[in-house]
Amino acid sequence: MRIGIASEQGRGAVNEDRAGAGADWAFVVDGATAPSGLDSGCVHGVRWFADRLAAGLAAGLAAEERRPLPDVLAAAIASARRAHGPGCDLDHPDSPSATVAVVRAAPGADDADGAGGVEYLVLGDATVLLPTAPGPGGGVRAVTDDRLDHLPGGRPYSRELVRASRNAPGGFWVAGTSVAAAYEALHGTARTPGRRFAAMTDGCARLAELFGASWAEVWELLVRAGPEELVARVRAAERAHGVPRGKRHDDATVVVGAFDPPAGPPPGAAAPGGGGHGTGS
Ligand SMILES: [Zn+2]
Repeated sequence: MRIGIASEQGRGAVNEDRAGAGADWAFVVDGATAPSGLDSGCVHGVRWFADRLAAGLAAGLAAEERRPLPDVLAAAIASARRAHGPGCDLDHPDSPSATVAVVRAAPGADDADGAGGVEYLVLGDATVLLPTAPGPGGGVRAVTDDRLDHLPGGRPYSRELVRASRNAPGGFWVAGTSVAAAYEALHGTARTPGRRFAAMTDGCARLAELFGASWAEVWELLVRAGPEELVARVRAAERAHGVPRGKRHDDATVVVGAFDPPAGPPPGAAAPGGGGHGTGS
């Protein structure tokens, strides 16, 4: 596998995004910044919560037992719930929360054309990109959970509307204290060339979501120039055009990679019996 990660803090005091990856999985987490002065019922805060959720996801994804991605997320949320302890109000509507995007290599051999399975899960306004054809010029499918964009009455939203809609039927779902939210995530399996993928937080998705780039252009940029260049382009667009809503610079994080090894050695070069022949890391 090959994995590249870039994460850049926005204007906040700390970066509340997290990213992680293993041999056959990767994720991003975007802790939701609490409005200043708001009582969240939690003595820990968003940074702490993002760390707990990321640690739980990494533990579940690296575990020997392979469980469905919604179960992995549910276990990570449950673990964070336990970590809050008795000093926190777990029923508080403004308890720290986060959006999540996870990808994992699906079992099974690649197709004859080199495409293999990639499982994905998206909860909240994070995005997973899944190429549909080889090469940087091929198509790409974007999986984004846009339920927050469709609350009753449209934007701008009142704080009360957002509070009442969070983790509620007909509203939008995020990873917070509700284990049930894990089962509201968008998830599935796609076949991508080389099991390639990208996952990003909304601060990084701005190039497409706010500044007019197509997802195919975002994917091509990632493949050609790498994750740091995507973040740099987002920052440049923010400086050049301003931001119609939200923070001037949000935390921006992207992980891009391929779970399959790079294109193999020429025919006949592979050592019989295998073992130790370079498959990358
Ligand atoms: Zn807490």
